Amino acid sequence: MVAQIQSLFGIPASSGATVGPFFLLHTNIPVPTAQPSDKGFEAEGHALNLAIKTVGADLEARAARTSGELQEILLATAEIATDPAIAEEASGFIASGHTASYAMVKATDVFQELLKASGGYLAERVTDVANIRDRVLCQIAGVPYPEIPAFDVPTVLIAQDLSPADTADLETEKILAIVTAGGGPTSHTAIIARSNGIAAIVACAGVVEAASNNLGASVAIDATNGRVTFNPDSELRAEIANIIEKIKQRKSRIINRSDEGYVTTDGKVIPIYANVGRLEDTTAAVKSGADGVGLLRTELLYLDRNDAPTLQEQTEIYKQLFAPFSGKKVVIRTLDAGADKPMAFIEFNHEPNPALGVRGYRTIGAYENLLRTQLQAIAEAVHATTADVWVMAPMVTLPEEAATFVSMAREYGLNKAGVMIEVPAAIFHSEEITRVCDFVSIGTNDLGQYLHAADRESALLAGFNDPWQPALLRAVHQIAQAGIKNNCPVGVCGEAASDPALGAVLIGLGISSLSCSVATLSDVAQAVTAHTYEQLKMAGDAAISANTAHDSKNSARSHLQHLLDLGL
Ligand code: PEP
Ligand code: MG
Repeated sequence: MVAQIQSLFGIPASSGATVGPFFLLHTNIPVPTAQPSDKGFEAEGHALNLAIKTVGADLEARAARTSGELQEILLATAEIATDPAIAEEASGFIASGHTASYAMVKATDVFQELLKASGGYLAERVTDVANIRDRVLCQIAGVPYPEIPAFDVPTVLIAQDLSPADTADLETEKILAIVTAGGGPTSHTAIIARSNGIAAIVACAGVVEAASNNLGASVAIDATNGRVTFNPDSELRAEIANIIEKIKQRKSRIINRSDEGYVTTDGKVIPIYANVGRLEDTTAAVKSGADGVGLLRTELLYLDRNDAPTLQEQTEIYKQLFAPFSGKKVVIRTLDAGADKPMAFIEFNHEPNPALGVRGYRTIGAYENLLRTQLQAIAEAVHATTADVWVMAPMVTLPEEAATFVSMAREYGLNKAGVMIEVPAAIFHSEEITRVCDFVSIGTNDLGQYLHAADRESALLAGFNDPWQPALLRAVHQIAQAGIKNNCPVGVCGEAASDPALGAVLIGLGISSLSCSVATLSDVAQAVTAHTYEQLKMAGDAAISANTAHDSKNSARSHLQHLLDLGL
């Protein structure tokens, strides 16, 4: 029988390409029924508490065997497992006659729903809760939890989803690539893959079923394009070999740069910065060749805090975050709390549309002191650093908000102050905003979702959030031109800047710097520096003249002929 070729597509999470054998992680977890318990609520309560305690202790033991980011993630997962709120929720079901296992499923359902409803970073923690639930169910049933085995030969790992606990003992050098059906670009799988340089594709619908139907076959992974193909034919194998060769050549190509930034072939200097959210990211940012940090998302430091960080705590962490960037620029963003990043120490009244509610700079109404404490902490950290620190506020809509923020920053001696442009009204105020700010940075993630009235977390509406959408690019062009007129640098720090071809186009539209994920920074730098500034401008013009995201990308790429040589 001729093997059937199937290609599936997911979201590229970490670039790379490979062909090899695969392992499908089966999760045969005992499924409890709603049958009433015949053991009595005391015995069920005891069984549940014991299982939770054992799972928590096991996660802590795994954490002790690891270090760095993974260790932190595992400790946080152990904390979720032993959170009394889960046991309390479950005890209600046990009290009404259900088994410990059924109660665990129902209790974790409640928490998963809450996390999902919050969206964004919190929604991605749903996997952690599911993993804790499955470990507890195995524990109660007395069956081993299905772990990833040690591989004899390098293997592609395919799973419905992977939690940090699943990957704690992973021998990363034996992993060719990771593909998951679930997860998102900021999920643990993506983070772990990127930090280990493993190719990864997430949110690849149908991959588990396709793997089950092709057990024993090999699989081709083209993570740059998010493509997974079982039983690759010789033509596809050759294509993947070609991509691997191009990646190798690209990694060894000397990139044209100066002290001020990367340089196009005709000498235009373009600084390319990294987006950073945690202390660990700073090492990766330096290693990636970043010219500094273009977006330091401070809210990510405090997502798990119940109380507001003190002045001293903030000063200390900002000092540490600035330290690796001596002589380089660091753009620190004040807390972007709300919507997909709710924070326990900020009370948000119930809002039917949190993304359109009180978030980012808008929290100043009730929490001005929080903003002032943060600005003071940044100012104190600036005294202890030789980094060139700039400060900006998220979710600014009106010029008067921008002016208020800039003058407040100046009160603390922070003389490079600006705002993010990520609300449509700010596009039409960009003339005035670029007059009152020292710089602006465009948040294409939010600007895209608000321009198209399409939730950036919605898989169904993902097409609207394609960063190649011409409306978004025309907005970028308009803001960039206002910045040029008013001599105000305009950067892009949304994910659009992390796409190598699009990063080049943004520069062509008049953007003065990019800030992107460390995983793609060197590829973005390759795309920008392989062309002349004139070519980038022609690509930019072509992109905004198109009427669909597809045409915008294709016509822009036709002016960037070196992308193909680079395999980008
Ligand atoms: C953006 O909206 O593009 C952005 C960079 O901010 P965040 O993704 O943190 O909302
Ligand atoms: Mg934003």
